[in-house]
Amino acid sequence: MRVGNLYGNRTEPIVSFEFFPPRDDKGEAGFYTVVDELATLGPDYMSMTFGAGGSTREGSYQAVKKMMAKGLPTVAYLAGFGLAPAEIIEVLDRYKALGIETIFVIRGDEPRNDDFKPHGDSYSYASDLLGFISDRYDFDLGCAGYPEGHVQADSLEKDIEYLKLKQDRGAGYVVAQYFYDNDYFFSYVDRCRTSGITVPIIPGIMPIYTVKLTNMLCKLCGSSLPTGLKERLDSLASADAKTVAALGVEVAFEQCKDLLVRGVDGLHFYTMNRSGSVTRIVQGLKKQGLLK
Ligand SMILES: Cc1cc2nc3c(=O)[nH]c(=O)nc-3n(C[C@H](O)[C@H](O)[C@H](O)COP(=O)(O)OP(=O)(O)OC[C@H]3O[C@@H](n4cnc5c(N)ncnc54)[C@H](O)[C@@H]3O)c2cc1C
Repeated sequence: MRVGNLYGNRTEPIVSFEFFPPRDDKGEAGFYTVVDELATLGPDYMSMTFGAGGSTREGSYQAVKKMMAKGLPTVAYLAGFGLAPAEIIEVLDRYKALGIETIFVIRGDEPRNDDFKPHGDSYSYASDLLGFISDRYDFDLGCAGYPEGHVQADSLEKDIEYLKLKQDRGAGYVVAQYFYDNDYFFSYVDRCRTSGITVPIIPGIMPIYTVKLTNMLCKLCGSSLPTGLKERLDSLASADAKTVAALGVEVAFEQCKDLLVRGVDGLHFYTMNRSGSVTRIVQGLKKQGLLK
């Protein structure tokens, strides 16, 4: 399954679900229950992340293998940070042998593990990785974009310049970091189009699951919480998990509705390996005829 072809051939929005590999054997059974539950919603594809520095290399591979064996349309990620070119080739050859046709290429971040030493010939940026892969493989390729700018970027303009380089080096679609104000996304898309980026740019949706997780991830990923939403979340600081998740569903549902009405090409859900919230959001959108 080539994601690029989906965007070329479909008029309805493309729906995708992102997972990370289960951490251990104990987590595995629960993980595949979640995957199976979300598969019943009929997403166009599911995707599996990859720990930078190769930290989840085997776990990601095994998860992709099982998802492919279940007949699920699967995209594999490659975070190239610290990896030698030969290691990248090894990872990609294994994915190719499984029948993977689309690779989502990201740089990744330095693992918080003092013992980790990046390989001397590793690539500094996703655009370099994309060039390396495009020269050697026929994979369909995707890359990440940041509507509020990447946390290390000199400026949003510079970040968009580098996004254009990722397109020029082979990325056929962009999945955006999540955001809670849709105007950031549409303004970003406008700026990308003005800068010559023509490939589909898909909004990433991160439902609020818990207050703690949301605060931690927003800081890490550079996604801001609009004041009104921050106040609502703060008021739920000691609420039970169900109440917070219900707010998350309500907020994400309204956000997705607005994105779809304004004509986005698809929705990419960061599931955090949970099925409840995404199921409710997608079912709600289907009920309103906004998704098939
Ligand atoms: C949808 C999505 C999925 C993700 N999945 C994973 C995952 O599976 N595993 C994981 O480890 N991480 C993942 N990440 C996180 C990602 O790895 C980090 O955000 C990382 O810090 C940047 O990756 P990138 O590919 O965007 O990097 P790049 O595009 O290389 O950009 C990194 C920084 O360098 C700057 N830059 C880019 N090119 C140049 C250049 N040529 N010269 C100077 N500066 C430059 C950019 O402005 C930016 O600030 C994901 C992010 C998103 C949005």
